[in-house]
Amino acid sequence: MSVQISESNLNISNPVTGEYISSIPITTNQELQIILDKAVFAAKTYNYSSFSKRKQLLKQFRRGIVKYLDDFIKIIISETGKKEVESLMEIFISLEHLQQSSKNLYNALGKDVRKVGILKTKKAWVEYEALGVAGIISPWNYPLILTMCPMIEALLAGNTVVLKPSEHTPLTTQLLKRVWDEFTKEEALFQVAYGQEEVGSTLVKSNKTDIICFTGSTAVGKKIAEVCAPLFKPVILELGGKDPMIILEDADLDKSVEAALWGGLSNAGQTCISVEQIYVHKNIYKPIVEKLSNSIKKISAGPGNKHLGPISVDLIKKKINNYILEAKKESEVIQGGGDEGCFIPPTLVINPPLHLKLLKEEIFGPVMTIHPFQDEEEVITLANMTGYGLSASIFGKNYNQIYSISRRIKAGTVTINDVLTHYGIADLPFGGIGLSGIGKVHGREGLRAFSQQKSYLSNRISLKSEFWWFKNRDKFGKFLKKWIRWNFS
Ligand code: NAD
Repeated sequence: MSVQISESNLNISNPVTGEYISSIPITTNQELQIILDKAVFAAKTYNYSSFSKRKQLLKQFRRGIVKYLDDFIKIIISETGKKEVESLMEIFISLEHLQQSSKNLYNALGKDVRKVGILKTKKAWVEYEALGVAGIISPWNYPLILTMCPMIEALLAGNTVVLKPSEHTPLTTQLLKRVWDEFTKEEALFQVAYGQEEVGSTLVKSNKTDIICFTGSTAVGKKIAEVCAPLFKPVILELGGKDPMIILEDADLDKSVEAALWGGLSNAGQTCISVEQIYVHKNIYKPIVEKLSNSIKKISAGPGNKHLGPISVDLIKKKINNYILEAKKESEVIQGGGDEGCFIPPTLVINPPLHLKLLKEEIFGPVMTIHPFQDEEEVITLANMTGYGLSASIFGKNYNQIYSISRRIKAGTVTINDVLTHYGIADLPFGGIGLSGIGKVHGREGLRAFSQQKSYLSNRISLKSEFWWFKNRDKFGKFLKKWIRWNFS
């Protein structure tokens, strides 16, 4: 167990060694109201700040993170048990995101001139204004990326931020907050509230937050949507996934197998866009299963140099083990090595019957299923059967076939001959459909999601009165009839 929760503290331990790291006081409701009041007050000026000021603040923040690089590596590893390279990738993706989103700011939120059609005397445009205070709630599996990316987008869009990190991994956010305060001296623009469901739920309900960006499970996402709907509060929901990988007949076998291992097992499968289901064309199914099984047997989960780290949250480990037990009763299961304690061996479940729970629910661990398919129709049905729609991947050489399948896959993103990499491209919108959520982060769309889009109309040429006002009504009516006949026929 990585967190022990007392009445007033989150007590964090290393999930691998069990060693106690540190405690953080849970934010009381009274403290949270003070934080929110401060955020509302700071928003009054920051909402209208210039793009250059926002970019400057984030540049200072970026430099601060680099200065504390070793502390970030250490804290991410100690509270999640990740491998060093995994922690470095988190930091890299977060910083890359910060830099690219800052570069994208004018392009995304600058004045956006629109066509006026026949109304040539007019001019029209859209401006993107801050919403006010953004409430951000994050999960534990990537404690830096999933905290920093929405936070950066909200701040670049001119909002002040109140963030609640997962109760399992609050220490990375605590360091982030220290760096923000030290390097920007703008303490009120980014504040943190610590705790569990109650703190998150207060943030969601509060009339002092103007938008909620939630990353986490589909079950909690539903609760948040229910609270926000009657308040008409904008909400971005980045929820669970059950990503399918499709391997077509002409795919490169070795590359597909390597990609499946990386896509399904990196971060011990605790990634929303992990490959959980593999569908292979029947003509190459046998060699793919053979290669994948042989490779999985050589991979181990454990401390030190082992490939996979731990399952960071004890409760989730129990759930994953139940899926594996269920699978073992009805199908062949191939496993690699796995140490005792918080580790789960990499697992491949071969051709399990479709009624099993592990094919319907998000596993969120190093477990993949593999099935053969006959043709396009069958694989599209299989890939779309869960109701989740975060991302999907397709491996093959015939791009006509790849596109014909990808267009019919229900997913926010499709990657072709690659897996997971799309998350690292800061300009590519990210978000799911169906049970995987609503709204986008990243790219222009992410910055705009944290903005209110205000449309403007004004005059290019100022006339005393418009043709369609009461005074000109008769003449205008005759003109309009002729115009409709001439222009639209
Ligand atoms: P979770 O839903 O249990 O918790 C997420 C956060 O919500 C935590 O901070 C938690 O304290 C808070 N919370 C819980 N109940 C709440 C409530 N009623 N109101 C407000 N806040 C509440 O998820 P988790 O176990 O931390 O994370 C794993 C899940 O997150 C997986 O399903 C995974 O797929 C998903 N995830 C999605 C993405 C994505 O971008 N789509 C990324 C990472 C993880």
